[in-house]
Amino acid sequence: MGVRGGSCALQWSQRMHELSIAHSLVEIAEEAAAKAGVTRVTVVHLRLGVMSGVVRDALLFGFDIATAGTRLEGARLEIEDVPLQAYCAGCDAVVTLPDRQRFRCPQCNAPCGRIVTGQEIELTALEYEENAPEITAS
Ligand SMILES: [Zn+2]
Repeated sequence: MGVRGGSCALQWSQRMHELSIAHSLVEIAEEAAAKAGVTRVTVVHLRLGVMSGVVRDALLFGFDIATAGTRLEGARLEIEDVPLQAYCAGCDAVVTLPDRQRFRCPQCNAPCGRIVTGQEIELTALEYEENAPEITAS
C-alpha cells in the first residue's frame, strides 16, 4: 500500500478500475464507429479531469487490452488533461484551483466546494482511417 514510483506501484485493483473504464470507452467508440460505418479507428480523443481518479498510465495500459480484436485495435489514445475548476460564491465566478488538496479560491481564499470541471472522463472525438471507396456490386 502507498507505494509510489517504480513500475510495480499500481495495485491490481487500481488496474482493474482503469481496465473497466477502458472497456466502457471502447464500447462507446465501437458503437460510434459502427454507426459511421467505419472499420478502423486510429485515434481516440479523451478529456480526463485531474480529479477523475484515473491513473493515466493504467488507463493507457487498459486501453491496449480493451481494444484488442475491435475496430479500435492499434488506435492511439490521446488524453487531454482537464484542470480542476470550481464555482466560488465569493467571486461569483468559476475559478481554476491550482491545488487539488486545497479547495480554496485563489482570488479570495473562500472555500469552493462546487466542482465544475476536473472530474470528467469524456470521449470527445474519434479519428478514422479513410475507408476504401465502396465497390458497387454488379
Ligand atoms: Zn473567490
